[in-house]
Amino acid sequence: MLLPTRVVLLSALCATVLGCPTIISRRQWGARPPRIRVPLKTPVSFVIIHHTEGNRCTSQASCSREVKGIQNYHMNTQRWPDIGYNFLIGGDGRVYEGRGWRTVGAHAYGWSHRSLGFSFLGNFSNRIPSAAALNAAKSLIQCAVKRGFLKRSYTLKGHRNMNPTSCPGNALYRVISKWPRWLSKKKMLLLMQVMLLSALCATALSCPTIISRRQWGARPPRSRVPLKTPVSFVIIHHTEGNRCTSQASCSREVKGIQNYHMNTQRWPDIGYNGQSRAWAEGGYLFRPQSHPLSSREGQGEINRGLLCPADRIPNAAALNAAKSLIQCAVKRGFLKRSYTLTGHRNVNPTSCPGNALYRVISKWPRFKAKP
Ligand SMILES: [Zn+2]
Ligand SMILES: [Zn+2]
Repeated sequence: MLLPTRVVLLSALCATVLGCPTIISRRQWGARPPRIRVPLKTPVSFVIIHHTEGNRCTSQASCSREVKGIQNYHMNTQRWPDIGYNFLIGGDGRVYEGRGWRTVGAHAYGWSHRSLGFSFLGNFSNRIPSAAALNAAKSLIQCAVKRGFLKRSYTLKGHRNMNPTSCPGNALYRVISKWPRWLSKKKMLLLMQVMLLSALCATALSCPTIISRRQWGARPPRSRVPLKTPVSFVIIHHTEGNRCTSQASCSREVKGIQNYHMNTQRWPDIGYNGQSRAWAEGGYLFRPQSHPLSSREGQGEINRGLLCPADRIPNAAALNAAKSLIQCAVKRGFLKRSYTLTGHRNVNPTSCPGNALYRVISKWPRFKAKP
């Protein structure tokens, strides 16, 4: 018992030492909610540097105003679902959260889904950003590596290297081309060939069909707490609700669960993929999807003791989807290779995930009754 406590303490200390720059959250700068979000597969291999070509700013108030103006322009005029960049860097040395670490941006055509886009607030064709801004950007890159969103072997590029544009301006481009992990054009060509090959391999190691939030008609979350990945645990639940056998009926069921969690439980969102208050620590929880393994936690608690309908196992398609999802989580780097699989009843006083399903998962690889 003592050892895990020490490990937790140590990693908390390390997180403090390996600090990240001050990041002004979306709430803090007054962001509008995104229309939709597409999850970014992390860690990514590229950091792409931009400038906004707008006004410079030197205080949190003026930079926040500037960022809000850019979001309005991207959402109203460009009709994008949100501000395009993952992060913006102010002349005040603060970092402003755009789409953040976990969402695909709209900043470099054809590259946004495999990169983080950082944009300096201002026009840097003829002058370079403030020292505070340059330091913030360097620190943000290190932060992305430390937190596992960016590969250690990442490549730094300017927007003009990916698309026909003058971005990020001549002056800033000269600065970043001297930073670590900058790649020349020749190496870049080679790299693109390697990437083509790995894309082919990734297709072979495929994941199960995941019905996105947009596809099942999710409401946007009230708030989001980032999950630090890779996590160590997979926790299996059942919803204790209806079974479903088509995308339409399963989508209806998932929507009903989200409404219950958001309206009755007052949670910020549907309760799994690690974002609910109830599931802060260390759990890798399934993204809600079209098989009956998603959790309806609160409902489970209410129904507990009334009846136990869980005397049957999910169908073979659902069991295979769950196994494939676990492998997918490992492949994509969200779940440690050394993960532990367990049932909800092994970590909290509940009958979830039901006796029949529990017997099935207890025979799966890496299962532990006492995690
Ligand atoms: Zn750009
Ligand atoms: Zn449960």
